[in-house]
Amino acid sequence: MNRSSEITLSEKAVENNIEFLKKKLGPGVKISSVVKANAYGHGIEQVVPLFEKYGINHFAVFDYTEAERVCKSMSEECSVMIMGWIPNDRMKEVLEKGFEFFVFNLERLRLALKTARTLHLKARIHLEAETGMNRTGLNRQNLKQAIELINNNRNYFEVMGFCTHLAGAESISNHLRIQKQLKQYHKMLEQLKENNIHPKYRHVANSAAAFVYPKTRMDLVRIGIMQYGFWPSMETFIHYINAKPDKSDPLERIMSWHSKVMSVKEVKTGEFIGYGITFQAQTDTLTALIPVGYSSGFSRSLSNRGRVLIHGQRCRVIGLVNMNMIVADITHVENVQVGDEVVIIGKQGELEIKVTAFSDISDQLNYEVLAHLSQKIVRYVV
Ligand SMILES: *Cc1c(COP(=O)(O)O)cnc(C)c1O
Repeated sequence: MNRSSEITLSEKAVENNIEFLKKKLGPGVKISSVVKANAYGHGIEQVVPLFEKYGINHFAVFDYTEAERVCKSMSEECSVMIMGWIPNDRMKEVLEKGFEFFVFNLERLRLALKTARTLHLKARIHLEAETGMNRTGLNRQNLKQAIELINNNRNYFEVMGFCTHLAGAESISNHLRIQKQLKQYHKMLEQLKENNIHPKYRHVANSAAAFVYPKTRMDLVRIGIMQYGFWPSMETFIHYINAKPDKSDPLERIMSWHSKVMSVKEVKTGEFIGYGITFQAQTDTLTALIPVGYSSGFSRSLSNRGRVLIHGQRCRVIGLVNMNMIVADITHVENVQVGDEVVIIGKQGELEIKVTAFSDISDQLNYEVLAHLSQKIVRYVV
């Protein structure tokens, strides 16, 4: 291991999760695999070919740069859908590469038309409706104008989708708001149909919606977090598991993150460890230095609170998390040597450190912990 830490991805877990999702969602529902934020920290270049192998052929990203990375990682003809940012001067490439993209304002629709005319190509658009999240999307007035523009320029558009995003399907507290959004979505869909626009995919669901509100599955679901083996929230997991006699989690986590002991040191009673005075040894303490820090995604808020596994035993992080290093208390672990494996996320022996444990301690969403994993960490499939 040349690098100070590595992330491994379990092919078996990928197979399990995709099989589970396909089975639950049913044959009529297409999965668009969301791989934004470097595939939720798992690595676009590693995840895309792996997911393709298990039958995924539609990928969703946030921006143009990610779309390019997905495109380069694909082995076969796949579709790439950009849900967010496209710089104006990249619209040409977007059309040439056949990327699908969300249209959430008239400016983007006009730019797409202008570019499509110049290139004699069709823009593959997903019209995004504003249904109540008040983030992105065309309101009814905008949609009316969009319809006119599309119907006057049929040769330049392929309406791939009509979509919206729900404002918090992972919590029952948002139930009413979601119902209102769905109602609005269907009204706007009617508006399209009345004007003879029939989008290929109607889609509104992310992971949480697809499981909590089965009606939201429609033609396509945009599944992010669950592919990687995580539930969007504890609530969604309980919602699913409550109705089942078997209470075990059907999802398997794909990712493990591990490093090695860089150095071992004895610290005498009363001494402070690392920067400042946040940790004072109460007894003679044996410590292991581990070359992982906040620059790789080990949050500084895990200072004096995080845990790692060494020799199958849980070890406390003591002192502050540094940019590239943490110190763990190994007083209770026998015979630790420089070079021994340290598990940051994942299993070792009987024990496991989960991203949730990680995120609970540091008060972050599991999404957030994953997205912060540095892109420079080497990732490979096992
Ligand atoms: C991120 C995202 C998703 C996927 O959400 P998960 O909760 O990870 O399934 C779906 N749709 C949009 C618009 C998103 O931004």
